[in-house]
Amino acid sequence: MIIPYVSIVVPVYNEEKTLQPLMDRLYPVMSGLGCPFEIIFTNDGSQDLSQEILRGYVQRYPGVKVVEFNGNFGQHMAILAAFELSTGEIVITLDADLQNPPEEIPRMIAEIKKGHDIVGTIRDKRRDPLLRRVASRIVNLTSNRMTGMRMSDCGCMLRAYHRNIINNINKCGESSTFIPALAQTFSSNATEIVVGHAERTLGESKYSFYRLIRLNFDLITGFSVVPLQLFALLGIITSLLTVGFALFLLFRRFIIGAEVEGIFTLFAILFFFIGIIIFGIGIVGEYVGRIYQEVRRRPRYVVKRTHGFE
Ligand code: UDP
Ligand code: MG
Repeated sequence: MIIPYVSIVVPVYNEEKTLQPLMDRLYPVMSGLGCPFEIIFTNDGSQDLSQEILRGYVQRYPGVKVVEFNGNFGQHMAILAAFELSTGEIVITLDADLQNPPEEIPRMIAEIKKGHDIVGTIRDKRRDPLLRRVASRIVNLTSNRMTGMRMSDCGCMLRAYHRNIINNINKCGESSTFIPALAQTFSSNATEIVVGHAERTLGESKYSFYRLIRLNFDLITGFSVVPLQLFALLGIITSLLTVGFALFLLFRRFIIGAEVEGIFTLFAILFFFIGIIIFGIGIVGEYVGRIYQEVRRRPRYVVKRTHGFE
């Protein structure tokens, strides 16, 4: 058996419409590399025809392999499962929806050959709804600040990794994670290149607003405890301010007399702080929930079958 030099990893969730256009562009690029390769698709519990299509590819295209999940475990678990089965010296993650051009793959491989262990990508003129672009900006800024990472575009999944990084990722057993961030923690020499970005023309985004929020909590809580520390800090600042305020009221009572008016101002201030407290409890909950998930040590995903690995 030939050991592949490049492994492509593609998570697939209800992508029956995009799979063929993807293969039509991806396969010629891979064949043109002139080195052994494999393309691993993880079917993340699709309910459409994706599974049948993928199984057909294993027969039709040499080098195509399929991991079949029992249910929907999410994009990041799908990628992790493929990582564990991949053997390439260079591993590249790619979305199935053709928003990132497969034609960029040779450039990414060239960067790894230069000695970089991660090649990230920055989406040039990103073609996503405005709301998502704005939200991404905020997430990129805060996550870089909080986790101390340097990544211009956390959300872009077209990335190349050296085998060393993949081996380290495979040693981690965490069940809620964010792969680009996890990889970054093992990197010593990462780089980024600018790639084109297309609108999703076939099928639809698998991330609802709610799922995006969950995913971003995975990113922040998985790699930083700054949100918790901020609350400690905020607590200290409010206590100090309150002491100051109490002293002011004390003096005022001696000089002017007791105060009665402004009860609704008091309410406003009170509700503001109650809001912050509830938010704080929520953040603690996000961490506790994830700790609970980890301590139960349930399998992160269940592989039903694999095709093409033998
Ligand atoms: N995906 C997956 N499992 C999921 C959700 C998404 O495997 O639960 C895959 C999906 O098929 C696609 C990739 O992850 O290949 C990115 O999804 P999508 O393009 O919908 O995300 P967006 O580009 O909107 O962030
Ligand atoms: Mg997409």
